[in-house]
Amino acid sequence: MPLCLWTTLLAVVLTWAIFHVSNRKKKSTKLVDTAAQERTRIITFYTIYLRLELTLGYIDFVLKDGRRVHVIERDMSEPVRMMGEFMQPGGRLMLAKLGLQDCLEEIDAQKATGLALYKDGEKAVIPFPVEDNNFPYEPTGRSFHNGRFVQRLRQKASSLPNVKLEEGTVKSLIEENGMIKGVTYKNSSGEETMLFAPLTVVCDGCFSNLRRSVNDNDAEVMSYQVGFISKNCQLEEPGYLHLVMAKPSFTMVYQISSTDVRCSVEILPGKIPSIANGEMTNFLRNTMAPQVPQNLRKIFLKGINEGAQIKVMPLKRMSATLSNKKGVIVLGDAFNMRHPAIASGMMVLLSDILILRRLLQPLEYLGDVNKVSEVIKSFYVIRKPMSATVNTLGNAFSQVLIASTDEAKEAMRQSCYDYLSSGGYGSSGLMALLGGMNPRPLSLIYHLFVVTLSATGQLLYPFPSPLRIWHSVRLFGRKGLARCSLQHLQPLFLWTLLAFVLTWTTYHVTNRRKKATKLADVAVEEIRYGGPDVIIVGAGVGGSALAYALAKDGRRVHVIERDMREPERMMGEFMQPGGRLFLSKLDLQDCLEGIDAQKATGLTLYKDGKEAASPFPVEDNKFPYEPSARMFYNGRFVQRLRQKASSLPNVRLEEGTVRSLIEEKGVIKGVTYKNSLGEESTAFAPLTVVCDGCYSNLRRSLNDNNAEVISYTVGYVSKNCRLEEPEKLHLIMAKPSFTMLYQISSTDVRCAFELFSNYFPSIANGEMASFVKNDLAPQVPPKLRKIFLKGIEEGAKIKVTPAKRMSATLSRKKGVIVLGDAFNMRHPAIASGMMVLLSDILILRRLLKPLRNLGDANKVSEVIKCFYVIRKPMSATVNTLGNAFSQVLVASTDQAKEAMRQGCYDYLSSGGFRTSGMMALFGGMNPRPLSLIYHLFAITLSSIGQLLSPFPSPLRIWHSLRLCGVSLKLLIPHLKAEGVIHMMSPINAAAYCKNYMTATAV
Ligand SMILES: Cc1cc2nc3c(=O)[nH]c(=O)nc-3n(C[C@H](O)[C@H](O)[C@H](O)COP(=O)(O)OP(=O)(O)OC[C@H]3O[C@@H](n4cnc5c(N)ncnc54)[C@H](O)[C@@H]3O)c2cc1C
Repeated sequence: MPLCLWTTLLAVVLTWAIFHVSNRKKKSTKLVDTAAQERTRIITFYTIYLRLELTLGYIDFVLKDGRRVHVIERDMSEPVRMMGEFMQPGGRLMLAKLGLQDCLEEIDAQKATGLALYKDGEKAVIPFPVEDNNFPYEPTGRSFHNGRFVQRLRQKASSLPNVKLEEGTVKSLIEENGMIKGVTYKNSSGEETMLFAPLTVVCDGCFSNLRRSVNDNDAEVMSYQVGFISKNCQLEEPGYLHLVMAKPSFTMVYQISSTDVRCSVEILPGKIPSIANGEMTNFLRNTMAPQVPQNLRKIFLKGINEGAQIKVMPLKRMSATLSNKKGVIVLGDAFNMRHPAIASGMMVLLSDILILRRLLQPLEYLGDVNKVSEVIKSFYVIRKPMSATVNTLGNAFSQVLIASTDEAKEAMRQSCYDYLSSGGYGSSGLMALLGGMNPRPLSLIYHLFVVTLSATGQLLYPFPSPLRIWHSVRLFGRKGLARCSLQHLQPLFLWTLLAFVLTWTTYHVTNRRKKATKLADVAVEEIRYGGPDVIIVGAGVGGSALAYALAKDGRRVHVIERDMREPERMMGEFMQPGGRLFLSKLDLQDCLEGIDAQKATGLTLYKDGKEAASPFPVEDNKFPYEPSARMFYNGRFVQRLRQKASSLPNVRLEEGTVRSLIEEKGVIKGVTYKNSLGEESTAFAPLTVVCDGCYSNLRRSLNDNNAEVISYTVGYVSKNCRLEEPEKLHLIMAKPSFTMLYQISSTDVRCAFELFSNYFPSIANGEMASFVKNDLAPQVPPKLRKIFLKGIEEGAKIKVTPAKRMSATLSRKKGVIVLGDAFNMRHPAIASGMMVLLSDILILRRLLKPLRNLGDANKVSEVIKCFYVIRKPMSATVNTLGNAFSQVLVASTDQAKEAMRQGCYDYLSSGGFRTSGMMALFGGMNPRPLSLIYHLFAITLSSIGQLLSPFPSPLRIWHSLRLCGVSLKLLIPHLKAEGVIHMMSPINAAAYCKNYMTATAV
């Protein structure tokens, strides 16, 4: 007998393994096929090119190489921003080489012949070198309004017949086995769309959302640039960029049109006065203006006095790294950033485009990923002279510009000024480097050494006391010099490097410590002066509910939400009974009132012409709340939650888009965001909660797990109609997968169905509507069909939402919690996302309550670890059920899978203990993983019974074994992902129910 058992078990395991491997292969072939199909059938653009901005060198691809280019840009209106306003002579040369020089015409661009440098009351005028240089173009720069230049580039690109320039927001890259196949994006009509092409170029700027999914390097915020425009005025010397070496750092003044002057100052991290309460204006007027030389001061003050809009931009640095993904190239600020003090970002970018264009030109077909990868590697090497020179110069120069009380640093700063103002070879050499006219790293190293040596001379003068020698030694450790030498490793300087490495290390370590303390001080200061206790990113279901709960506990909460309008989306329209219980425990039950929400008492299931009612169990269950669900328009519910949260005095609900998290040594200190006026702002708090939904941009910088798109939910609303049984969710087990109908208001019915990427009819050309009418409608039972067709016939808007799956993982970063869809997703077939989220909020609130100070990052980390364990009964049950159920719903020609599907229908429709048990799991009324495992096994066994009847032929036994494989496949990955102990432990589940699901709990 035991031998027999072992043999069966072995057979099952073997079958499962074979099944699993072959299935995985099938799955990957499927996606590749779709991409190929898409390419030939729907989309015929060869290059998807994201975010137009300044990277229009691609025009040349189009002109000369005949590529078809699809550009997706988030916002086609003229950008109003404070960046990319100065084109160096080197950049103008690149523009000309790309045939784009006319984009600098008719935008009132101003000629710049050099730099006017100011320090301690002195002035030096340093022109770009005109003679004795090998630069083959007119050696002047141009300054202009960035938005006007970008619009000219866009016009020029879209004037070509093979460029399609479309307004839309790219949500994510479509990846398959490490290869980027295309993008998913929301077009201007708000529809989720996919686009496939052999090559995707990511060019989405310094706030790139996509970079992290391609390269794992992060940008480092060094400081902030604060700026404004003084209108209707002209500088005495408009042909110069005026650079004042002030305190705390540089101030710049330059003409960006014949009547407008850009004024900007650099502010170091943690010292940003508030714009909103006028501190910034006072700072500019009282601290900065007195340092601006007389000849510029009037114009500097003009903008401030006339109330010009003040903008803040984080200044970032990020070195270029190669991605190991294929079929994708990252360019521009998303790829490589350096300090903008030397205004060279556009120049490096244009140089990159020129190189890339040349390398790609010989390739007939961009779909040959290996060849494209070779091109990218060559590109990476060829770009070095320009990029290394500019990056090193930018970062070294920016550090030299910062005022300091440190004698060594101050000597370096003075020496830099002296060198540039000295005239002759020294200043013209440095200006050629600054202007991109001489992109030679060796030349840069030479000039940096000379500056350092002359600073040493100054320091040792009049006699080399021990202190002065010490300062000189430290001078050689200045970052600019050390970084240059390290990058290019010129043997000539190696000895210097070795001699001073020890000194530099000591200096560097102490400096870092100082920096960390400084940032911590700022955060503490902000909190002391009434800053928030918690920042919440996103006011969707999770963000709003959490804000209310934490504010009720006395916390000051700052919620930043991208869009305050009522969301119009097809998700979160069904609140399970369990979710309603949690809502009431959070005192938010009234948010389901006044929104015309409809009561749902259960499910009606349809399969092959049969139907079965599966109500939520009413009697004999321990669920302490009325066991019915609610169906509603998600947007109305979210608005009610937002209203409720913002009705509390300690909740500040602000419209703004969070760009990035501010991190210091692995601790999240706050966020940078763009507020509703378009200004870049920062907010600090001891705890940041990221709740930015299923398209989360921030998740990737915290958790390295990625969401997997399983399928697509397509849906529309049939208006002015009522189902025969409006209190049921009608679920049809159709082909290719499920179709659903449910009443979301007293007059409107949601119709939705699931599709896969291997067959996705186009919505735009009407194929989807035909598919609904001809393929799906005949499978919908007659009593529902009229309503199912009504929406389509009346031209209802068809929406698509990707159904994603992502298991929860803990972030290693401190001071931050991720919640909601950004943290954990399961298939939406069981409509339980909001329920799990509300359960999470309840747990977290209870755990955080005893902590007086959320700034204790270690204690908060402990809380998060506990939270992760306590949530398991609910999350593991729902995640496993959602993913298993969604797989069972997919129609198949495989007999084993079909038997499982039939078994599931029979089980749910059998009534009694089986139906009520499964419905209690669906409704979140019994969050016990063991109970779920029990029911899954029972379904499997009953399906096997059916398969083997009337007698067990060898083929039937074979199918039964495979069915065991199907069943194990439904369970094992989840046991692994959720943790065997957590899923098997009845103690956890009992504790969860006692603490969160009894009438008196919480
Ligand atoms: C097709 C589909 C159907 C579903 N149906 C159901 C269902 O019937 N029942 C159910 O319980 N669950 C359902 N779900 C799941 C449920 O909708 C989600 O679990 C829930 O909405 C997640 O809430 P959230 O707060 O995490 O995200 P959201 O509710 O999406 O909120 C995120 C918010 O963050 C904002 N935001 C994003 N980025 C930024 C930024 N950078 N700065 C500032 N703000 C930002 C967004 O504007 C948004 O308001 C469904 C999911 C899908 C995909």
